[in-house]
Amino acid sequence: MLNLLKSIVQEVSKAPELGAALEIIVRRVREAMSTEVCSVYLLDPVQNRYTLMATEGLNASAVGKVTLGHSEGLVGLVGVREEPINLQNAPAHPRFRYFPEIGEDPYNAFLGVPIIHRRRNLGVLVVQQKEARLFDESEESFLVTVSAQLAATIAHGEATGILSGIHFSGERARDVCIKGVAGSGGVGIGHCAVIYPPADLDAVPDKLCEDIELELAAFAAAVETVREDIRKVDSRLSDQLRPEERALFDVYLGMLDSNALPGEVVTMIRGGHWAQGALRRVIDEYVRHFEAIKDAYLSERAVDIKDLGTRLLACLQMDAEKVERKYPDKVVLVSEELTPSMLGEVPRNKLVGLVSARGSGNSHVAILARAMGLPCVMGAVDTPINRIEGVEVVVDGFSGELYSHISAELRSYYLNIAEEERNLSKGLEQIRDKPCVTVDGHQMPLWVNTGLMTDVMRSLNQGAEGVGLYRTEVPFMINDRFPSELEQRDTYREQLEAFSPGPVTMRTLDVGGDKSLSYFPINEENPFLGWRGIRVTLDHPEIFLVQVRAMLKASAGLNNLRIMLPMISNISEIEEAMHLVYRVYHEVREEGFDIALPPLGVMIEVPAAIFQVREIAERVDFISVGSNDLTQYLLAVDRNNPRVASLYHTFHPAVLHALKRIVEDAHAVDKKVSICGELAGDPGGAILLMAMGYDMLSMNANSLLRIKSVLRAVSLEWAQALLARLLAMDSPQVIKASIDLALREIGFDHLSRPPRTESH
Ligand code: PEP
Ligand code: MG
Repeated sequence: MLNLLKSIVQEVSKAPELGAALEIIVRRVREAMSTEVCSVYLLDPVQNRYTLMATEGLNASAVGKVTLGHSEGLVGLVGVREEPINLQNAPAHPRFRYFPEIGEDPYNAFLGVPIIHRRRNLGVLVVQQKEARLFDESEESFLVTVSAQLAATIAHGEATGILSGIHFSGERARDVCIKGVAGSGGVGIGHCAVIYPPADLDAVPDKLCEDIELELAAFAAAVETVREDIRKVDSRLSDQLRPEERALFDVYLGMLDSNALPGEVVTMIRGGHWAQGALRRVIDEYVRHFEAIKDAYLSERAVDIKDLGTRLLACLQMDAEKVERKYPDKVVLVSEELTPSMLGEVPRNKLVGLVSARGSGNSHVAILARAMGLPCVMGAVDTPINRIEGVEVVVDGFSGELYSHISAELRSYYLNIAEEERNLSKGLEQIRDKPCVTVDGHQMPLWVNTGLMTDVMRSLNQGAEGVGLYRTEVPFMINDRFPSELEQRDTYREQLEAFSPGPVTMRTLDVGGDKSLSYFPINEENPFLGWRGIRVTLDHPEIFLVQVRAMLKASAGLNNLRIMLPMISNISEIEEAMHLVYRVYHEVREEGFDIALPPLGVMIEVPAAIFQVREIAERVDFISVGSNDLTQYLLAVDRNNPRVASLYHTFHPAVLHALKRIVEDAHAVDKKVSICGELAGDPGGAILLMAMGYDMLSMNANSLLRIKSVLRAVSLEWAQALLARLLAMDSPQVIKASIDLALREIGFDHLSRPPRTESH
């Protein structure tokens, strides 16, 4: 059963478009269940009606023509109830709806299951049979499993189809919306440029080729290189492999014969496809063909074809790398999984937005996007990556939505918002040099989080008083090997000099989780609970010692360095790390550097640390709360997973109570406590943190003036009263709504932009 399911899912996922995918589903399901009819009805969200989209067994001429209201007939009933309906005698059911053109008369048995993707009802999958009988339990669970497994593929196929300009129901597509989660606020309108991981065939987008002859030549060269490589490998292994084992190389060379696979790719290139896209399509077709063969030996050959395709692709991409990619003036960078290093691909002055199919608002790439002031949508899982190259889209980073086929009204709606945002920023510039003091005189120091050098310039322009978190892993991530001590020293010196005499808090390398180094891969089942932050660097003292030495030497003559340790979950980790820091400090002084011992701090971002704040704080000079991780670990919600993004509540009562307890315990032992998670840069979050007694808030530079304007408009007393009220509440949604209401009451409604309500 499992193999059958797997082979159906594989075949469907390879289908070139939605119609073909649905045809495969009805054919394979009817066959697998030995039933007489299998049909798919899809719900058009614009018209709120079901359309018969594919059938095996009913009149094929009714496909695309028969439609039902969203609660009409048995199909509608399945959709409304969101559960399977299994009937022995469907025509006798009061909700049975008769369509003469569909040819349903002889069928009595009916089983319909909803197709649901991310809580949205996409349609209904139906099987029918003449014999009046109930489908048994195993048949019902098979259909439920097929539907659940295929829902994402259908949603994806639907989104891909709409991108061609026509809705599956035949309507012209307009303001087509792909939902994700908010990554970084702001609005950008531009043309998509897809970045995909190298040598990954599935990730190659469709694109028209600009110069057919050039593409043909590149492909011919790739075939020749791969052919040559295979010959070399063959002869190198000739004395280690038996002749029958080496026969595989002949198979490969045979496949590269110009009449076979390359011939088909060449035909597609002549038809206007770029070489990489043509290769992907042809390889997909071959793989599908081989996988469908029942013979186990032959179906295994699909793996060889994929391997060959990947080799050809790698050659094409190496060739393409030599040619500098040209970008339009306004680029929306799109990728299956955006990584911080990809942000450097497009010149900053052309970049207007970012879209990632994976990840969520707390992924590090989203944090970087906020620091760079770039609108960003994360977790847009239904983005048809392969078909979106060159399409014009709106990136709405406030609501986490992406729009294509933009109507004139939608365009002007978003142009207005962009204009408002620009005006707001201009207005805020006036308070750049004003202190952050509440109306009742409470001083609230505002620091910034940095990573790239560009953050430094922006931060200084926004009047930052110091750096609360310098993510040292960022310069490591955009490198292709560990930076040397001297390179690190130069990078750190730039940060320290730029803010001097203001303090700069440097966090020791925090890799692992979703922050990986290409040259130091960490592959784990559960990376956020694995080898991360201090756990990695204590296991690799050679990395830690070099980094601390570089930091200390960089601070010579400035003495504005603070060192902070990430992901602490045990006191012993602090003691070990302090021991290493002291050791380096003495060595560096012995080398003749005249430096002061920098204050040492610890991040509170693991729940265990909440309950040891006093013990931790007694050992160090300061503590800083990493609310991004603290929230993910307290709520058991992966900060990177779009499926659970709606459960990542920064204002969850458990989070608020934990944050308050941390300040109280740190102050009880006379230690200062700051916060450097994203919550500090949220207007409501900043008010509550100030009310709790945090000594300093550190945020991305783009939030700084907004937060200053809010805090300058309120009194500490008012903030404390609000906090007391919210701490008595038990629902994150109610707390969030109350904060938004409070912001509106003090005239800051523009800071919590409501989602668009008009239907498009
Ligand atoms: C945090 O976890 O809140 C934090 C500031 O660190 P990072 O986001 O880099 O994990
Ligand atoms: Mg963290």
